[in-house]
Amino acid sequence: MKAAVIKKKGYMAVEDIPIPAVGPKQVLIKVKYCGICGTDLHNFAFGISAPDSIMGHEWVGFIAELCRDVKDFSEGERVMLYKHPGSPTPPLRIYPRPVPSSPRRSGTYAEYIAVSQSRIIRVPDELSDKQAATLEPLVAAIHAVRLGNMKTSNDVAFLGAGPIGLMMIQRVKQAGARSIYVSEPVKVRAAKASELGADQVFNPFEEDVVTEIIKLTNGKGPDIVYECAAAKNTLNQACQLVKRNGRIICLAVYQEPITLTPLDWYQMQPEIKFTTNGDSTPLDWEISVEAMLKGLIDVETIISTIIPLNKIQETFQTLLDPLNNKMLRVLVEP
Ligand SMILES: [Zn+2]
Repeated sequence: MKAAVIKKKGYMAVEDIPIPAVGPKQVLIKVKYCGICGTDLHNFAFGISAPDSIMGHEWVGFIAELCRDVKDFSEGERVMLYKHPGSPTPPLRIYPRPVPSSPRRSGTYAEYIAVSQSRIIRVPDELSDKQAATLEPLVAAIHAVRLGNMKTSNDVAFLGAGPIGLMMIQRVKQAGARSIYVSEPVKVRAAKASELGADQVFNPFEEDVVTEIIKLTNGKGPDIVYECAAAKNTLNQACQLVKRNGRIICLAVYQEPITLTPLDWYQMQPEIKFTTNGDSTPLDWEISVEAMLKGLIDVETIISTIIPLNKIQETFQTLLDPLNNKMLRVLVEP
């Protein structure tokens, strides 16, 4: 089968490798779509995935083969990844961050994946393949919106309007935010943020986002700032921007050391909460499926591009280049 294999930091090659063998309690999936996740982009760009790894986890596919001991599924069923909410993963303390050593080949930038039956769920018939391939990041988005504890009197800012930010903007708009301000350098993403309900969108390469948004909130600053960018300066911007005693929710984190001057913002006493999609709960999954089924969150509108596997290297490079990127969410169709 074809798979995109990491060869070194910033470089993947599509290779012919054996279809994975199906072990006990496993099923073999023929991958239909796999979404490109921001985490994959960072792991690629910063050399966090070891050479020989295969990334990709936002997938939907069809069962091609089952181990004899799998009784709950049958061949041909449409399934997707299910991350067990609240699974007892021990808290990871990773400093200093270890240099990646052993490759992880369990990703779906590949035609097939063998996966434990406990890690898949059937896709509801009403969901399209594209929606199903976007459910996992939507769960992270919904969870983060809930962490914000937004009130209808709140001004909300998003640093970054990538796929996750664009889903969150829809949710925050529905929840009745007083205003939504967005910082996003990629033009198509900025335009989509406006279309989906942002009151004003700023280009952080051309404007002083912090000053402008504070001005628009009458000098107060937004009640909630969602850090969805993971650029070098966005955590600092969030701290400078948020109102006194406001809340910063970080879904995206920069991967290398940065310089912060806490003296600049400590008097504002922000509450900073980091979150990963591992924090999501069964309720987040339920809300996400319902939001898609009811048409409350349009994920197809944020899927701009579907690529074959052999375009993955150039697509990753473009997605990492905000001055040249013209894509929203990208699905790989291996
Ligand atoms: Zn992801």
